[in-house]
Amino acid sequence: MLDGKNIIGFKRSKRGTHTFKTINPILNIENETIYYEAASEEIQEAVSLAQQASAIFAETSYKHRAKFLMAIADEIMALDQSLIDVYCSETGLPEGRAKGERGRTVNQLRMFAQILEEGSFVEASIDTAQPDREPVPKVDLRKMMLPLGPVAVFGASNFPLAYSSAGGDTASALAAGCPVIVKGHPMHAGTGSMVSSAIIKAAKDTSMPEGVLSHLNSSGHEVGEALLKDPFIKAVGFTGSINGGRALFDLAAQRKEPIPVFAEMGSVNPVVLLPEIMKTENEKWAGTIAQSVTLGSGQFCTNPGILLGIKNSDLDQFTEILATKISEVVPASMLHPAIANKYDDGRSAMQEQQGTSLVVEFSEKTKPNIGRPAILKVSAAEFRENPKLHQEVFGPFSLLVECQNIEDLERSVSLLEGQLTASVIGTTEELRGYDYLLKQLENRVGRLVFNGVPTGVEVCASMHHGGPYPATTDSRFTAVGDDAIKRWLRPVCYQNCPDELLPASLQNANPLQLLRRVDGTLTRAKL
Ligand code: NAP
Repeated sequence: MLDGKNIIGFKRSKRGTHTFKTINPILNIENETIYYEAASEEIQEAVSLAQQASAIFAETSYKHRAKFLMAIADEIMALDQSLIDVYCSETGLPEGRAKGERGRTVNQLRMFAQILEEGSFVEASIDTAQPDREPVPKVDLRKMMLPLGPVAVFGASNFPLAYSSAGGDTASALAAGCPVIVKGHPMHAGTGSMVSSAIIKAAKDTSMPEGVLSHLNSSGHEVGEALLKDPFIKAVGFTGSINGGRALFDLAAQRKEPIPVFAEMGSVNPVVLLPEIMKTENEKWAGTIAQSVTLGSGQFCTNPGILLGIKNSDLDQFTEILATKISEVVPASMLHPAIANKYDDGRSAMQEQQGTSLVVEFSEKTKPNIGRPAILKVSAAEFRENPKLHQEVFGPFSLLVECQNIEDLERSVSLLEGQLTASVIGTTEELRGYDYLLKQLENRVGRLVFNGVPTGVEVCASMHHGGPYPATTDSRFTAVGDDAIKRWLRPVCYQNCPDELLPASLQNANPLQLLRRVDGTLTRAKL
C-alpha cells in the first residue's frame, strides 16, 4: 500500500533523487518503505495545481465542502488497522493512543463539516443604506469572510494524525475553502501519506477540483522553505519547535508579499501550587501531576514543564510523593531517536545549570529511545537569574521552583514568557485572595486552568489553544476548536453591490438561511 511517492494533485510522483526511511523507535530499526523527497518541479506543480483549484474550491457551496470533510473522515476510518499499524511502527506510540488520535482527527473533520452546514463562520454582516441620512447619505455595506488561498501545512511530529495530513490545520483550512499542500513530517511519512491518499479519494468521490490537496515528502528544510517562498502560497500552519516556527515566520516576513505563519511552538505550561490546598491535598496533586508530566512520554505541547510552590513542609511532602509516583511510571519510547536524544541533552543541560538539584530520575537506560522521566528543583532566586531554566524540555520532564513566599512566586511568574496554558491549584477561598497572581498568569497564556492539569485539550468552540509568543506567532488565533478556521479567512466588504452580484451569504433573500448581523441585530430573516 505504501509506495513512498509524493501526491501531486490526483497523481503519484517520484521524480526526486533524495530518499529517506522512517524509523521504528521501539525496535530502533528503519521501516521498509523508501520515501522520495519532493523535487523542485514537483513542489511547483503542487502549488500551481493548488492555485488553479483555489477559485473553484472557494466557490463550492458550504454543504458541498461539508460533504467532502465527512467523506475524508469516512475514508480515514476505512483505512482501519493498516493505518494503526503504520502509525505504531513509525512512532512507538501504543495502539490505544493511535485509535484515540484517529477518533479526534475524524471528529475534528466532522465538527468542521457541521460548522459549514451551519454557515455563520463567514460572519455575514449587513448595514443597509440610508439614502436620506443627513448630512451625508449612508451607503449599503455588506461584509463576510472569504478564503485566503492555498495554505501550506507542516505536519507535526507529536500528532501524526490530529495535527498532520488531515489534522486540525488541514481540516480548518479545507473548511475555509483553501486548498492545502501538506509538507509531511519525515518521522511519520507513511501515516501522513496514507491519510493524504484518503483525502484524495474523498476529493474525487465528492467532485472536488484536482489540487485541493497535495502531499510532499521531505526530510530536510528545503521542501518547506521552497513551499513557503512560493508566491501562490497565502498562509502557513505549523506545530513544532520554536527554532523551526520562528525560521518559517521570518522567511514569510521576508517574502515580497509577506504572509501569515500560524506557528504553535514551545510552552512550559506553569502549574502554581497554592499553600492552603497543599496542606490537605498534596498527595492527590502529586499523583495527578506525575501522570500529566509522563503522559505520552511528555511529548505534548501542554506538558507541565514548570511547577511553582511555596517552600514549606507541605511542599516538601508533595515533592517526595511526586518523586515516588514518577519513579513508579514505566518509561516508554519517544517518537524518534532524534527527539529522544534531544530530550536527553535538554534534561542534562538543565541538570548542569547552577542551583538545580535532582528530585527524581529514572536512570536505568533499559532500551533505546526511552524517555526517562525526571523532576529537578531550584530556588526561585536562581530561577529568576537564569532564563535557560525557563525553556521547554520536550519530554517527561518538569522543574519545581521553590519560592520563599507569595511575592517570590509572583516575581518568578512575571519573568515567564508567553504560554499556551497556566494552571492554578488552590482551595476556592484561597483562589479569591490571589487576584494579582491570576492577572499575571492571564496576561501570559491562552488558557487558564483551575484545579486541573494542562494536558488534555478539548476540541470545541470555547477552547483556545494559543498564547503570546513564543507559544505561538499570533496570540489572537487558536489551533484547536471551531475558531481555528478564522486563521484562513479574511474579511471583504462590498459597497453598494447589486444584489445578484453579491455572494449568496449576503443576498437580500438570505438563500442559505444564515444567521447574519443586519443593522446591528443578529437574525436569519430576509431583507
Ligand atoms: P521541528 O524541528 O520544528 O520541525 C517541524 C517541521 O518543520 C518539520 O517538518 C521540519 O522539516 C520543518 N522545519 C523545521 N525547521 C525548519 C526550517 N528552518 N525551514 C524549513 N522547515 C523547517 O519540530 P519536530 O521535528 O516536530 O521536533 C523537534 C523538536 O521540536 C522536539 O524535540 C521539540 O523540542 C519540539 N517540538 C515542540 C512541540 C510543542 O508543541 N511544543 C511539538 C513538536 C515538537 P524537516 O524535519 O523535514 O527538516
